[in-house]
Amino acid sequence: MSAHLENDIIGRRGLMFVLSSPSGAGKTTLTRLLRDEEPSLTLSVSVTTRARRASEVDGIHYRFISPEEFFDLRERGELLEWAEVHGNFYGSPRREIERSLAAGRDILFDIDYQGAMQVREKAPDDVVSVFILPPSIPELRHRLERRAEDSAEVISRRLTAAKGEIGRWRDYDYVLVNDDLQRTFARLRAILSAERLRRERQTGLTSFVEGLLNDL
Ligand code: 5GP
Repeated sequence: MSAHLENDIIGRRGLMFVLSSPSGAGKTTLTRLLRDEEPSLTLSVSVTTRARRASEVDGIHYRFISPEEFFDLRERGELLEWAEVHGNFYGSPRREIERSLAAGRDILFDIDYQGAMQVREKAPDDVVSVFILPPSIPELRHRLERRAEDSAEVISRRLTAAKGEIGRWRDYDYVLVNDDLQRTFARLRAILSAERLRRERQTGLTSFVEGLLNDL
């Protein structure tokens, strides 16, 4: 696996950039910003058995499938990871991820802690995980209500689930408190830039340095 970023002269391995947070902490907006500003990042589009929200597009935000289709994919080993979240099933299709990685592209995952742990177990050297925390619980509730796309019952279920999710913060490489969207976004990009430059990811370094030394 090697990738060339624009202006990069040294090849490197693609990485899997995993973002998790309780719903309402701003992860979806951050994911969108990353996709807009970091065209070299490919979003892993998950499959889910959840009903589509009015603002969502099939094939862009998720691939919406039936439970039967989901179980079939899972049985056939087509999911790199999967989890049941808030009573629905979600999973990351393996093929597209493998295709992107093979082409040397970095992949962005918007998945929960169960999925993050599975991906890390499968590819410990290639995963960079970031956990996004809300600045406060009233703010989290406010963001969920403002979205106004879920019923009161769904919102209250998500707030209850947030407790278990927030408790997983120690499982991540980086933790950001999203009190200011632009600042959090800048920090996220800084993490991505630094992780891309890790020595062990820059597969072309050995030959590059040998070349430098030869020319001395
Ligand atoms: P939502 O229904 O609000 O879009 O997502 C609910 C939760 O499921 C979020 O925490 C989201 O990150 C997580 N999620 C979305 N897709 C996947 C996936 O493919 N695998 C796992 N493990 N979690 C996912």
